[in-house]
Amino acid sequence: LSTSPVKVTKICCIGAGYVGGPTCAVIALKCPHIQVTIVDLNEARVDAWNSEDFKLPIYEPGLEEVVRKARGRNLFFSTDVDKGIQDADLIFVSVNTPTKKSGVGAGFAADLNYVELATRRIAAVANSSKIVVEKSTVPCRTAESMRTILEANSKPGCHFDILSNPEFLAEGTAISDLFAPDRVLIGSLQTPEGIAACVALKDVYKNWVPAEKVLTVGLWSSELSKLAANAMLAQRISSINALSAICEATGANIDEVAHAVGKDTRVGPKFLKASVGFGGSCFQKDILNLVYLSESLHLPEVAAYWRQVVEMNEYQKRRFAKTVVDTLFNTITGKRIAVLGFAFKADTGDTRESAAISLIRDFQDERALVNVYDPQVPHDQIWLDLQEASPRLPIEQIKKQVTICPSALEACRNAEAVVIATEWAEFREIDWEAVYKNMNKPAFVFDGRLLVDAEKLRKIGFKVTSIGRGERL
Ligand code: NAD
Repeated sequence: LSTSPVKVTKICCIGAGYVGGPTCAVIALKCPHIQVTIVDLNEARVDAWNSEDFKLPIYEPGLEEVVRKARGRNLFFSTDVDKGIQDADLIFVSVNTPTKKSGVGAGFAADLNYVELATRRIAAVANSSKIVVEKSTVPCRTAESMRTILEANSKPGCHFDILSNPEFLAEGTAISDLFAPDRVLIGSLQTPEGIAACVALKDVYKNWVPAEKVLTVGLWSSELSKLAANAMLAQRISSINALSAICEATGANIDEVAHAVGKDTRVGPKFLKASVGFGGSCFQKDILNLVYLSESLHLPEVAAYWRQVVEMNEYQKRRFAKTVVDTLFNTITGKRIAVLGFAFKADTGDTRESAAISLIRDFQDERALVNVYDPQVPHDQIWLDLQEASPRLPIEQIKKQVTICPSALEACRNAEAVVIATEWAEFREIDWEAVYKNMNKPAFVFDGRLLVDAEKLRKIGFKVTSIGRGERL
């Protein structure tokens, strides 16, 4: 086997989603000498990436500018997966790894079907040696399964080296995260070939990431580090949310507590913001993945420890919905509630596991009427998510209870209560006086993101409930 240094000149990324798209667009921008082709089976998604008016399939600040600069120069989007694979010397596998919906480990285990299909496709069509890089978040030792599949199906003369290079970007800040990452993690086998492959990938990142930010570790450590990072971030949110419940019951203020705790340099101030609960495609899925892994390894106490982080999050969402009902005199039947924000966080159009979905479902179950407004989420996506959340309700029924509105002001018209579900900056700037005038009285605001100035709103006349502030009515 050759262990001479590999010079990467052509990259293929399988999966043009929230990770594959921005990540490889930035690689193309920063490495004009490398041809980058992002392939996907989803034709509509690829068409959107290629659209003349740059109506990209995902919303991410700064992304359009990157794609405008690189697309057609050395960045290409295509549905021709086989050609992408054949042309490349390095292939990122950046496909979805959702939680399994049925079968063994349903509700916990990662569904590795997409990773396996992509891996088998690489083996089936590659006619030269490749470096295959796991970009998707996967359970520890998935690279071993990929290697077994590749070795068992490779053509004569084709050799595959596997690397793990998990992605740590956060949606909403993906481009700035990719431009200046806290670290780039590369896991490889500690064999001469594994180390040579690792050097080849390091050379790609060297074009813009300082050498000291590139960490090289063993394959299994790299895979586990991604799950661990997400689990620990989510754990901080669940910890602060657990404390927010105590604040509400005692009169303490979660912002003051978080500030005081975060001043301890051992704790640090980041990720200590109480909220209605975390969402997104990763935190819950990756923790459940860790729970399943722990159970498979006969470590039930470890599994129980991590499971609690997700349970706390579910509790926080339910608790917030209950606060709304309790405060509105114990019934919201027939009452109009404005839900501001549908994305799982600000600056993204992504709705996966968004807290807004479970809040609206709870409000629907209480027979409320719901007005929704989000500045980025497409209306089709909202209907799709609400249908999935209440599979037994016909869509006509859902549409009778829920109205999608063109602005925050419209959403609040004739409502009894406003619920802030996403921390979009524009909700801070709304003309709250105008909102108040248009609402039924008493007019309530429930701030699930600690976004608005509660005192200012109270002066206008609103009755305000903020997560974690012991100042309930
Ligand atoms: P996504 O669903 O947005 O994108 C995945 C894409 O892969 C889809 O467009 C799908 O059509 C495509 N695909 C699936 N199988 C394919 C195949 N065989 N051939 C070609 N295309 C195929 O998912 P995402 O959010 O980009 O996440 C991808 C991975 O990255 C996941 O493992 C996720 O956990 C991880 N991750 C996500 C984030 C995030 O913020 N979204 C951050 C870090 C890591």
